[in-house]
Amino acid sequence: MRIDIITLFPEMCEAVMSESIIGRARKKGAIEVECHQLRDYAFDKHKRVDDTTYGGGMGMLMKAEPIALCFEAICEKLGTRPHFIYMSPKGRTLTQSRLRELSQIENICILCGHYEGVDQRLIDEFIDEEISIGDYVLTGGELPALVFADSVSRLVPGVLSDDICFSEESHFDGLLEYPQYTKPAVWRGIEVPEVLLSGHHENIEKWRREQSLEETRKKRPDLLEKP
Ligand code: SAM
Repeated sequence: MRIDIITLFPEMCEAVMSESIIGRARKKGAIEVECHQLRDYAFDKHKRVDDTTYGGGMGMLMKAEPIALCFEAICEKLGTRPHFIYMSPKGRTLTQSRLRELSQIENICILCGHYEGVDQRLIDEFIDEEISIGDYVLTGGELPALVFADSVSRLVPGVLSDDICFSEESHFDGLLEYPQYTKPAVWRGIEVPEVLLSGHHENIEKWRREQSLEETRKKRPDLLEKP
């Protein structure tokens, strides 16, 4: 998978996407990421990427043309049109199942908004999908873009050491993950559940399935009501 990020803060995105698991996945070529400075595509006299809104109001809005030019340059470079996502509080809330679908796409481009957002004409003409990371508003689209880029990347084969890493995790099959424990077996007088020390794989599997259901029932009963 290749992810292009259109942003006013490419260093911020690059820094996060260079660390840890995602950074290593980039180095070994499992995913490709490129961050684009939107200002490089502001060709008007004042090199502006934002302007006042028609109809009045306090805030500024991101102009359509620099975004269109940046996206077109990306399309030309790739020789294909990436799936174009605008991170927006108005979008569909991100879920693990949507991430699984999107992880099958070869090329994704993410637009990070700022100020009051983006000229609607750009959204109508260019954007394939608006994605929100939750019902709250951040100052800019970089953190949402990074949340999306991280969570979609780890579903791409080769990014994690083993696919089982995510197939047993919370939300993969609509349930929360079972509780987990590490050494020591007794910590401050509290013991690890005995079954986990038994070496009996079938019993461990059964215990984990039951605990997974119990965690979901306790913490997110709404997940069990979903069809
Ligand atoms: N005026 C917009 C509204 O009321 O819908 C909010 C704009 S917000 C201050 C600036 C940018 O942050 C947005 O264009 C978007 O890219 C990003 N953003 C803020 N909250 C977000 C969320 N919950 N999910 C995804 N992106 C978000």
